[in-house]
Amino acid sequence: MDRMEAKAKKPKKPKKPEELRSGAVVWEGISKLDGRTPIAVVVTWYTRNHGTGDMAQAWMLRTDMHPLDAIYTGADRAVCPESCPMRPSASNVKGRAQCYAATGLTARSLGGIFKVLDRYPRLSPEMVADRLVGRRLRIGAYADPAAVPPDLWPVLISKTRGHTGYTHKIDLAPSLGKILMVSADSAEQALAFQARGYRTYRTRHVDANGVPEPLLRGEIVCPKTPEGGHRKTCADCLLCDGTLGRSKVSIAAIDHSGSARMRLGNRLLPMVA
Ligand code: SF4
Repeated sequence: MDRMEAKAKKPKKPKKPEELRSGAVVWEGISKLDGRTPIAVVVTWYTRNHGTGDMAQAWMLRTDMHPLDAIYTGADRAVCPESCPMRPSASNVKGRAQCYAATGLTARSLGGIFKVLDRYPRLSPEMVADRLVGRRLRIGAYADPAAVPPDLWPVLISKTRGHTGYTHKIDLAPSLGKILMVSADSAEQALAFQARGYRTYRTRHVDANGVPEPLLRGEIVCPKTPEGGHRKTCADCLLCDGTLGRSKVSIAAIDHSGSARMRLGNRLLPMVA
């Protein structure tokens, strides 16, 4: 048999199904936010999100209904706290939700994850931690990490090179402040959380003239935003990692949501802090 023949006869390696190559279910149980809805944590290994950069992504989603149906009917309260004003069902502009998860790449990814949810391998947190050695993890590509047992996250980040994450429900699991930023929807809220020792990630709202709220002392502009000059991806920056991380500053970003853009029309949001 010559080389060409041998090459031709070599059996092809079977391709792994997409769901095996793309991620794993690492936790399933009842939501800590409402105490009754079945939810799951899926970790996907890679992302096409340019703002995030090369990070594995942890998603929390209901297992009993399509995530977009949940988002638009308000049934997402099992994974996103009712107090979060960015939930589309809380938005007063129909179809122009503030939350990035309701549209674009995140919405498409959520639909894709839900479609193959049953076919993802079930891996323990330790097995996923082994898979994430030297990688970076984004905790909460969609939904709030406080919806699941807080001791899951330290295991998942134990071997990573860094992580980012946010919660709107710090009072449910105060220990999460060590590894997550506390989301603040106003300057007053940010100051109150900071006074309790937390680092915050604050949305700076914009007035009718397109002028954003000023930065607070101890806050910096998120470098992946337009006003931050798109200088870094999250994977390069990694500042949003709670109080145990290397940084002590809090972060702020101007509201670039669909509803803000619609409200302001062509009065472009300022591109400087
Ligand atoms: S401050 Fe850094 S880690 Fe946090 S959102 Fe902005 S780019 Fe990402």
